[in-house]
Amino acid sequence: MRTTTVVIGAGQAGLAMSWWLAKRSIDHLVLERGELANTWRTERWDSLRLLTPNWQSRLPGYGYEGGDPDGFRTMPETVDFLERYAKLIAAPVRTHTSVTSVRRSDDGYQVVTNRGSWHCDTVVTATGACNIPQVPAVAEEVPSTITTLTSVQYRSPGQLDEGGVLVVGASASGTQIADEIQRSGRPVTLAVGEHVRVPRIYRSKDIQWWMDASGVLDERYDEVDDIVRARNVPSLQLAGYADRRMLDLNSLQGIGVKLVGRLAGINDGKAQFSGSLRNVCALADLKMNRLLTAIDEWAAASGIANHVDPPQRFEPTEIEASPPLLIDLTRGAIKTVIWATGFRPDYSWLDVPVVDRKGYIRHDGGVVEAPGMYLLGMPFLRRRKSSLIDGVGDDARDLSAHLASYLGNRYLSSRSAMPAFSR
Ligand SMILES: Cc1cc2nc3c(=O)[nH]c(=O)nc-3n(C[C@H](O)[C@H](O)[C@H](O)COP(=O)(O)OP(=O)(O)OC[C@H]3O[C@@H](n4cnc5c(N)ncnc54)[C@H](O)[C@@H]3O)c2cc1C
Repeated sequence: MRTTTVVIGAGQAGLAMSWWLAKRSIDHLVLERGELANTWRTERWDSLRLLTPNWQSRLPGYGYEGGDPDGFRTMPETVDFLERYAKLIAAPVRTHTSVTSVRRSDDGYQVVTNRGSWHCDTVVTATGACNIPQVPAVAEEVPSTITTLTSVQYRSPGQLDEGGVLVVGASASGTQIADEIQRSGRPVTLAVGEHVRVPRIYRSKDIQWWMDASGVLDERYDEVDDIVRARNVPSLQLAGYADRRMLDLNSLQGIGVKLVGRLAGINDGKAQFSGSLRNVCALADLKMNRLLTAIDEWAAASGIANHVDPPQRFEPTEIEASPPLLIDLTRGAIKTVIWATGFRPDYSWLDVPVVDRKGYIRHDGGVVEAPGMYLLGMPFLRRRKSSLIDGVGDDARDLSAHLASYLGNRYLSSRSAMPAFSR
């Protein structure tokens, strides 16, 4: 079978690329191993709502039209949103089609799946940044009496034994999961490493509104000082609760969550935590205040300052005098450990030598180091918003333009290579 472009993955990234390819009249297919929006269906916990407001789910040719632009979608609503989009744009999606290999061929790529092979000129990898939970090596040392789960395996407090829970990681997933479990009556200890603290509402507007309007989310990958660092910044400590309450380490402590430092090791069943808790929290407070100052400056310059509440600052993160450095996991107080320690992509199916030793595809703003191959949906791929539903459309536009010009150049060079009489 032959097509011009194979897009792998039918999440928002694959669909946004499909829209742009269709717009440029490029024949293509979107191959998806599960159902459309598979990750949102199968890899998120039950109560999760998007942390981006409804208005902030703009995909090419599609946006929010309901009556609650500031609300936050549940997972079924998110799946429904993407399904409606796929239908509207008539995306050529083949579901239940797992790509098991992509390799170079004489004239492009061969894409092998459980449902046959395709030959194509160009490939777009839109398989997501969050395929495999990144669990630290110390996980091996957790005593066998304790149940361990990743944030992908976690569904709701009801699946946990009664008793204490250690949540490792204090970014978006870890803090939301800690909040929910503590409220279920199971005492939570939260191991806190580097994190990004932001308020939900600032000066009467959603923080995402400020970051969108002031251009923070549009910042480009070739404009930041350290793109490697920018691509590894943890997700915002933020939640899409219906009451729009702020989720941070102070609010968690307010409901009884205990904080400890970063999990540094486990020896003889004893978990050891870093003594840097106070420092990482001070740094997160400092960075939040820097962001708020930048917002205030933009608000003043743009004139919006006169139409919103005055600047405000939030209480520094409170840390108890001597947070515990050791918890004996054999004592029975902790029944479950939940790893909310991030993700990495899975390219085990990719037989083109473009994956670095850390398991990431080498690319320049999504243009992969292999002719005619593209990457979409990774953190800060081309812009700060690249991995968001709202951000992937602009990247897909740019990369589809590059892809179209690559195809055009190939066509021209194949014509010029032909003997004159056969033209
Ligand atoms: C817990 C969590 C909450 C998030 N909340 C938000 C939020 O509120 N707002 C927001 O804008 N962003 C959010 N994100 C970030 C981002 O929007 C999601 O990660 C989103 O799923 C990324 O979309 P994607 O299309 O890039 O990848 P995915 O949605 O992961 O889609 C990739 C698709 O590729 C398929 N696939 C993978 N490998 C293969 C293969 N070999 N063959 C065929 N198909 C394959 C998968 O089945 C999947 O359907 C969140 C992320 C996480 C982890």
